[in-house]
Amino acid sequence: MANAEAFDAIIIGGGPAGLAAGIALARHQLKVLLLEKHGLPRDKPCGEGIMPTGVALLDQLGVTNHLNNAELRPFQGISYFGPDGNMARADFREGVGLGIRRLELSRALYARACEIPDLEVRTRCTARLMDSDNMQVSVAVANRIAIAPLVIVADGLHSPIRRQLQLQERPGSYERWGARQHFEIPPWSSDVEVYFSDGLEAYVTPSGPCRVGVAFLWHRDRIKIKGGQALIPELLAQFPELERRLQECATSSSMAAIGPLQQRVVRRIRDGVVFLGDAGGYLDAITGEGISLALEGALCLEKTVVPVLKRHRTRPGEVVKVSELRQFERKTARSLRRYYRLTGIVLKLSCRPNWSRRVVRALHDNPVVFQHLLSANMGLVAPWRLSPTALWRFGWSLIWG
Ligand SMILES: Cc1cc2nc3c(=O)[nH]c(=O)nc-3n(C[C@H](O)[C@H](O)[C@H](O)COP(=O)(O)OP(=O)(O)OC[C@H]3O[C@@H](n4cnc5c(N)ncnc54)[C@H](O)[C@@H]3O)c2cc1C
Repeated sequence: MANAEAFDAIIIGGGPAGLAAGIALARHQLKVLLLEKHGLPRDKPCGEGIMPTGVALLDQLGVTNHLNNAELRPFQGISYFGPDGNMARADFREGVGLGIRRLELSRALYARACEIPDLEVRTRCTARLMDSDNMQVSVAVANRIAIAPLVIVADGLHSPIRRQLQLQERPGSYERWGARQHFEIPPWSSDVEVYFSDGLEAYVTPSGPCRVGVAFLWHRDRIKIKGGQALIPELLAQFPELERRLQECATSSSMAAIGPLQQRVVRRIRDGVVFLGDAGGYLDAITGEGISLALEGALCLEKTVVPVLKRHRTRPGEVVKVSELRQFERKTARSLRRYYRLTGIVLKLSCRPNWSRRVVRALHDNPVVFQHLLSANMGLVAPWRLSPTALWRFGWSLIWG
């Protein structure tokens, strides 16, 4: 294509998935163009809790050195509060998680991206996929055209490109929404706290020496709220203890909401195109795994896609074929299956208050099981790999406790 700028890969979207993918590819001397339609760093509704595995991935990407300690707070584990006020908690076996203000995560990823000479980041640039044929994928960037053998689509939950390529599946069965706001108060817990109510949860994540982020996730078909400016007070009112604690605190961000969260995708690869992060389909934020999954997917590109793109340098004018992306697909599918399975179970519990009550009580009585499930959620152990005694005790508390 005459006058088109040529790259080894083009990335659409400068969220955690896109920036991490840019870093992972360009540090192997591939020429990468990343397009983000807004400015960077960029805020977004998020619970802001990064699990220990995600923290390790940030380190592998070289992002940790760019983080400002005043904008984050380590957390040791997770505390669950059942609808009846019962509480269960467990530490992570694998180290600490990090509560990182979303703006700070974006800033650190962007700073790391800017260090890599082969990665060009263009902000305030809305990309439009023009065409993908056997030759190249072309992307319209402002008034110019960029081409590459592969486009990585990381344009977020409601991915316009997924719709453009008709890869959006019918809506799923959950109509869940999320919202968040930050409050100026020294964190009172070293955990991420999760409060369950009927069809609604509140997540309190420490994200600085004098700040907590409160995120809410709710089933829109079960919780009737007016929304607008009253949204956060309305949601908070469902958790009187939390409301009391926060009522005198100043807020340090504006309210932000997003939904529906469940987004299904027909497939995540096609000739010349890979979907990454939320753009590749999403179930729910209830297990706090979205950022870690996005980073893991990006790092997986290093082993599976970098060699493919290097080979394509010797075959100019040829798009990366689905068959060359299969290894990436297989490797990431394992983590995604785990995410969908465990998140699906917790989601079912979230709309059955009787069961969530029982589960929180059983986890309280069996902290070893709770700790094991936290590791399983991060894909570090199989959920069922528990001693028969622990399983039997947990089952007993669940049924009779
Ligand atoms: C309420 C809530 C709480 C959550 N809590 C947690 C949590 O505690 N822990 C966790 O790990 N995850 C959590 N998540 C999930 C996490 O926020 C997402 O998984 C993560 O942001 C996915 O990153 P992404 O890069 O795929 O998408 P995004 O962060 O949405 O980035 C997509 C980017 O693409 C850009 N873009 C879109 N279209 C174009 C275009 N045409 N051209 C150029 N750029 C474009 C957008 O501007 C945006 O910057 C939560 C989500 C919600 C909604």
